Amino acid sequence: MAKINYGRMLDEKMAELRKTGEKLSLLLHACCAPCSSHTLLYLYDCFNITVYFCNPNIAPESEYIYRKNELKRLVSELGLNVKIIDEDYDSAPFYALAKGYEELPERGERCRRCIEYRLRKTAETAKKLGANCFTTTLTISPHKDCDFINQCGGNLGDELDIPWLYSDFKKHDGYKHSIDLSKQYSLYRQDYCGCIYSRKAKENG
Ligand code: SF4
Repeated sequence: MAKINYGRMLDEKMAELRKTGEKLSLLLHACCAPCSSHTLLYLYDCFNITVYFCNPNIAPESEYIYRKNELKRLVSELGLNVKIIDEDYDSAPFYALAKGYEELPERGERCRRCIEYRLRKTAETAKKLGANCFTTTLTISPHKDCDFINQCGGNLGDELDIPWLYSDFKKHDGYKHSIDLSKQYSLYRQDYCGCIYSRKAKENG
């Protein structure tokens, strides 16, 4: 089966919006400041963006707060007109969904559940806010399964009746741009994905 080019899908959508001059309201799930940097700048001229920091997977809580504050600092220093909504720290749903899958490597079932949970929360919140669409910064990461993220987002969009914005933010050197922006704004770049299991895996090499 031919691979779907999600980056091209986003570019075509944005070209359409530029042609009509229409700006859509977008709820953008954000995992951290580095992944949000390129993503926000890339989307900014076509969307009225609200950033949604919903990441109960991140441990410990101090790390969660640090990543969230770095994201707030980035948005403020970029001078963008972007609202941020953050969820209170509540890791219980994450540990419930990860139960039985703690030892799996990244990109396995634990990660699929973790991503599905965060995208579902984003879709539900987008719906409550009356946003036109939702998406996530996660497709910028070369460590994440871009196909899974887009299929999961598309399915949730159908289920909850809110359009999913397909993306692959790695395109056009997006990942490299995020590293350059991280240096420029001295952003904290974590060396583990987020959960306690990914941290342990990193520590154990
Ligand atoms: S490794 Fe990352 S994506 Fe996977 S469960 Fe942990 S925090 Fe979630």
